[in-house]
Amino acid sequence: MPQNNRMVCLVRNPTAGFSPDDFEIREVPIPKPGEGEFLVRNLYLSLDPANRLWAAPMQTYVEPVQLGTVMRGFTISKVIESQHPDFKAGDIVQGMDGWQDYAISNGVNHNDEGKIDTWNLRNIQQAGLPLTTGLSVLGTTGLTAHYGLLHLGQPKSGDTILVSGAAGAVGSIVGQIAKIKGCRAVGTAGSDEKCEMLIEEFGYDAAINYKTENLEDAFTKHCPDGVDVYFDNVGGETLDTALIHINMGAQVIICGAVSQYTTAEQGVQGPDNYTFLLFKRASMHGFIILDHYPNLRGSMEAELIQWVKAGKINYREEVVDGLENAAVAINRLYEGKNLGKLLVKIAEPS
Ligand code: NDP
Repeated sequence: MPQNNRMVCLVRNPTAGFSPDDFEIREVPIPKPGEGEFLVRNLYLSLDPANRLWAAPMQTYVEPVQLGTVMRGFTISKVIESQHPDFKAGDIVQGMDGWQDYAISNGVNHNDEGKIDTWNLRNIQQAGLPLTTGLSVLGTTGLTAHYGLLHLGQPKSGDTILVSGAAGAVGSIVGQIAKIKGCRAVGTAGSDEKCEMLIEEFGYDAAINYKTENLEDAFTKHCPDGVDVYFDNVGGETLDTALIHINMGAQVIICGAVSQYTTAEQGVQGPDNYTFLLFKRASMHGFIILDHYPNLRGSMEAELIQWVKAGKINYREEVVDGLENAAVAINRLYEGKNLGKLLVKIAEPS
């Protein structure tokens, strides 16, 4: 086993997308777990659009990552050594152990509110599914889609579900769950290739290229009966235009606002058309999936495993090799270059 831990530390707040100069790789001796702790070897790292918010010195739903400390990130890891009653050497777990090779954990991830627990991936292993799904379709991504659409959106068969960022990790799952529930799924994405994926691979009924089509015309054309649930991943102009098309009693689910993240410090483009919430007696609901892990993670994971095994949900992953490449790879999210859930492979699972 190596003696040192490589830590990718945030040393500068980004000003637009991330720059490699925002990070520094530092090497320190691998720490030893104390009583109630365990040492993990990180295997995979999740790169998430929200990473840009976490790296900004501003108020969000978690404390900003402090300069000089390890960049925060969701991980899949192997337990190497444990002094914790619930984790043993060899366990594969999903946690938030950051952009580094090794980490000490106490089972409650390094979330300031102490809310999220490290999650043993034994169900995924027993189902014979790849470990990486613990960060994609069976991890935060799939759980976000499941919770946002089903628990908040509460769609009924025959409803029209409009999804922005539809070809992305979360959006591609939302559309497929909508289809499982008998809904019509309409999605927006940033290229013709992604629009084709929406129809061919993820079963969407209609796809809109928001970069080349007029959104107002496209929503009128593809949502002729209006929108019952709008699942928003991008915010900005797409949200604003979608509001004009909502039906009476519609649910507008604010999952994310990726179009706003790289300039969030300078302010966020708000929806001018919010009065449609009033006209249509509709609700707009934001959520953070981490809040629901303690109560709902097990049941949502079980249902998603079933759907994936039955071939009812397809998923894509894009895996970049090497922790040292995370700082460059992350911009793929803000440039729309990722095709599937963006992950970094840090070490072989063996
Ligand atoms: P994605 O796989 O969807 O990757 C990000 C995508 O965003 C890009 O591929 C790109 O697709 C799109 N995008 C980037 N810039 C813009 C822009 N200016 N306007 C419109 N689209 C843009 O990432 P995820 O699936 O992981 O995340 C999707 C959303 O879900 C994010 O907003 C994220 O913050 C949110 N999220 C929320 C959670 C919660 O608990 N509420 C948990 C997890 C994620 P394209 O080519 O189509 O432009």
